[in-house]
Amino acid sequence: MPGGLIIIGASHAGVQLAAKTRELGYQEPITLINGEPGLPYQKPPLSKAFLLGKIDEGDLALRSERFFADAGINLLPEKRCVGIDRTAKTVAFSDGARLRYETLALATGARARTLPASFGKIPSGVLSLRTIEDARFVRTAVASARRIVVVGGGFIGLEVASALTTIGCQVALVEFQPRLLARSCSPEVADAIEGLHRSAGIELHLQAGLAEIHACSERLERVTLTNGLELEADMLLFGIGAVPNIELAADAGLPCDNGILVDQFCRTADPHILAVGDCTSFPSHQLRIPIRLECIQNAHDQAATAAATLVGRSSPYVSAPWFWSDQHDCKFQMVGFLDRVDRTIRRDGEDGAFSLWHFAEKRLHAVETINRPGEHLLARQLIARDRLPTPEQVADPAFNLRMVLTPA
Ligand SMILES: Cc1cc2nc3c(=O)[nH]c(=O)nc-3n(C[C@H](O)[C@H](O)[C@H](O)COP(=O)(O)OP(=O)(O)OC[C@H]3O[C@@H](n4cnc5c(N)ncnc54)[C@H](O)[C@@H]3O)c2cc1C
Repeated sequence: MPGGLIIIGASHAGVQLAAKTRELGYQEPITLINGEPGLPYQKPPLSKAFLLGKIDEGDLALRSERFFADAGINLLPEKRCVGIDRTAKTVAFSDGARLRYETLALATGARARTLPASFGKIPSGVLSLRTIEDARFVRTAVASARRIVVVGGGFIGLEVASALTTIGCQVALVEFQPRLLARSCSPEVADAIEGLHRSAGIELHLQAGLAEIHACSERLERVTLTNGLELEADMLLFGIGAVPNIELAADAGLPCDNGILVDQFCRTADPHILAVGDCTSFPSHQLRIPIRLECIQNAHDQAATAAATLVGRSSPYVSAPWFWSDQHDCKFQMVGFLDRVDRTIRRDGEDGAFSLWHFAEKRLHAVETINRPGEHLLARQLIARDRLPTPEQVADPAFNLRMVLTPA
């Protein structure tokens, strides 16, 4: 019966919460429940360096076994939590075990959205990419799959398409919207990324969805698109978004709405239960509405906020979100939100690199960069410290934006 802090979910948010809580001097037991086998691992490389074969599983660990032992974090692998009893302050597991908590933290993340039931029985060779098990499967299967169809023109679909093309597969990508990345970045950036994919030889089918999957002896053969086109495929990978894992919280009576609802201190409606990462919906201090994010920055920064709340040093979560994606030889990075943007200023660098500085009512709101990592870092610092350049300063190529950060 450990008591202390129990964290459900040992990925980016759960591991960071355990580590940060210890770092802040928490003396009680910390139990970290890992629903998956092995050590907790990094997810971003799964659709990038790992698929490309540049790194192996051993390189993916978030922290070493030694780290958990030294920090006194009791990591329990392959253990699924199936229920929370808020009155008794216990959690129940699929193997029948029960543990008591003083504080419970939900870091249950999200799972890949699956294809609608109308597609019937899904043949082998059709999958999504969310876990190391999925990535392992794809890495093995591409050895014999030459013709791959990717459904979904969001970041994961595009990263997978890029990696698989680089290792010699023939890839067709299908996107329902008229353009790529419609939910996450500006049309100008989406255009640049579309150009990269087309020049790499990826067949793009925009304004088309998946209508039918054809298999022979349960083996994938081809797909039909909503526009009637048929594509041969020996692997179909879909990246059609993620769904937050809220069921544990909802079944325990905690309010949820596209995520477990938390306040700016990562507290749920129960004073003994915190929630962090992809599974939460939280009040955005910038947009002033509840939002849910799926990025490493949010998982890490919410974990730090929750750890501070837990040890009684609470401070509100006010981080500006940032994100990156690697596709072909391009690094896309973004900080802030594109909502309510009314003016955009473009700054060009060498070899097609550029940045877009987005303003709302003359206030810097977001910055997107293509192959300009230095500007991305600067933009993050400017936004985090609320030292914002004016549109005129950004538009002036001779103006050194660092001056806004550290005025002479
Ligand atoms: C392929 C891929 C590439 C990505 N690339 C980027 C990128 O380039 N940049 C970026 O910022 N973000 C990227 N992301 C998003 C980023 O990985 C997520 O935002 C991050 O993993 C969220 O961490 P989390 O801990 O909140 O949730 P998750 O990583 O989803 O982990 C939740 C964990 O909780 C476990 N769990 C759930 N329910 C239970 C239960 N009942 N009992 C026990 N365990 C449970 C799950 O098994 C899982 O291990 C990528 C994601 C993927 C899948």
